[in-house]
This record gives sequence, structure tokens and C-alpha cells, in this order.
Amino acid sequence: GQAGWMGSINSALQSAYNQYKSLNEGKNADYIPALAQVPSTYFGIALCTGDGKVYEAGDTKQLFSIQSISKVFTAALVMQESGDQKIEDTVGVDATGQVFNSINAVEQFKGKEMNPFVNPGAIATVGNVKGSSPDEVWAKILKIHSDFAGRQLDVNQPVYKSESDTNQRNRAISSLMSAYERFPMDPAVAVDLYTRQCSINVSAHDLAVMGATLAFGGRNPVTGKQVIDSSHVPGLLAIMSTAGMYDDSGKWLFHTGLPTKSGVGGGLVGVSPGKFGIGTFAPPLDAAGNSVRGQRAITDIVRQLGANPYAQF
Ligand code: GLN
Repeated sequence: GQAGWMGSINSALQSAYNQYKSLNEGKNADYIPALAQVPSTYFGIALCTGDGKVYEAGDTKQLFSIQSISKVFTAALVMQESGDQKIEDTVGVDATGQVFNSINAVEQFKGKEMNPFVNPGAIATVGNVKGSSPDEVWAKILKIHSDFAGRQLDVNQPVYKSESDTNQRNRAISSLMSAYERFPMDPAVAVDLYTRQCSINVSAHDLAVMGATLAFGGRNPVTGKQVIDSSHVPGLLAIMSTAGMYDDSGKWLFHTGLPTKSGVGGGLVGVSPGKFGIGTFAPPLDAAGNSVRGQRAITDIVRQLGANPYAQF
């Protein structure tokens, strides 16, 4: 019954939290200097179900920069505005097999046949948001993130400044993608908006609600708002599955089956379609760039709750 399911969720979260709380593996990202300053011990796990109830363990209200997880929601915005085909045609929907900020991948594929979750694809996705000014585009990007989270989100200014001061590589990627005519926006503006979007502050609680909005066909189960049409969700989840966890996407899918996106800030958002969204926060990353404790926690919770989408029989 309902009480049994709720009890199982609480105990799955609590036991994962207890089990991995003191796990000391991995290292904060430090190529963005502000991320190295975030206390490594933060650990939060939140899970949101279709009735809008959020289950929580640990530091689930602590804010941190969303980083690459934002790529999912800006891709959702472009799909909603211009159709799924726009993403397939402009940046592609295939894994690159290369690191997320690879310039080789851009050259190899001439700016196409990548996906919206690697930096070139993500910057081009931002560059394809419709708007007559950078402010108008930014307002739309912040709004879709806020609608997915069900509350007004803001930018972490120190992280934005820190990454703006050190993002020469992303500026190069933006220029290169612009040279391949992947987007109509000024490349300096596109990379600035991209950097700002990566600096949006969220909590594990927010990520759980954002994931649940995808799990329930684009309708935020907390606010009841239909944020994007349900038709865009399967495609987004497919890209999360193939490219959401960088080079470990295959391994991750093999173990959990869960479409998931990670960010270098230490966040993860996972989606069990029709069941729940899960958000975790733990800054230390493994070699592939994914949160160590977040991955362990989600893996255990998915097993305990029988939530692997490929095991629904
Ligand atoms: N803003 C970061 C970057 O562009 C995001 C990377 C990430 O989370 N993988 O490098």
C-alpha cells in the first residue's frame, strides 16, 4: 500500500545516506576555482514522487551551482520552442566518446553529430534560444529552470565570476561552433549566457523536483504546472541515458538503467519515468567527473525501490 511505499522510500534514502556519509573518495572539481572552495563533506539525497511529496536525507537544502545539469533544461527549452528536430539538426543526439569540453569532437564532427550535453552542443543550444536580446534569452533560460524546480532560482555570483574569469576554453568552443554556423547568436554572448546558466544555484531538493517533472511527462508534480509538452520528454531522457554521465554513461546505465545528468558542482539528477525524480549533492567527483557519493546512493536506492526502467516486469 501507499504507506508501505513511502516507508520504503524513507528507509532507502536513510540507509544510503548512512552508508556513504563518511565515504571519502574523489575530489572537488577545481578547474573552476570557486568549486574547489565548497566543503567536500556536504551530502544530500532527495526524491520526489508523482504526488509532489519530497523525501529527504542530509544536506538537501544546501545550494550549489547546477553546472552541466542545466544543459538538460535549456535543451528542453529549445525543444519546446523549436521542436525536437531542431536539437537533432543543430547539435545532434549522439555521444561523442570524448570529454565534455573536447575541441577535437567539434573538429571531427564539424560541429554536428554531437549532443546538447557536451559543451559545444550546450553552448550551441543556448545560442539557439529565440530572443531579440541577451536579456530576453537569459530570462527564458532562468524561467524554465525555475519552472522545473517549482521556485524562483538565482545565480551564484561568485561561481559565475570565477568561471567567467577562467572559461577561455569554452570561449574558443563557442567561436568554433559559431564558425560552423551552429547558432545565430554572437558567440561571446552565447558563452556568457551558458556560463551564467551553469552558475544557477540549486539544492538536491530542487533537483529532485526537476527530475520528477521529467518523470511525469513535463508536469511539475509540486506546482502542477505543465512546463514542457510531454512529447519532448522521451528524447530528453534518451540523451540523458547516452550522454548524461560523460564517458561513464554506458557503465552507469548498465548498473542503474536510470537517465541521469551530472554536473561538476557535485549534483546529480536522475529520472525513473512514472515513479520519481532523484537529486543528490556531494561535491567530490570520480575520474569521469561524476559525484562519487551521489552515484553510490542512487545506485542503491534504485535497486531497493525496483526503479530500474529496464526491469519493469
Ligand atoms: N560550466 C562547466 C563547464 O563548462 C560545466 C561542466 C560540467 O558540469 N561538466 O566547464
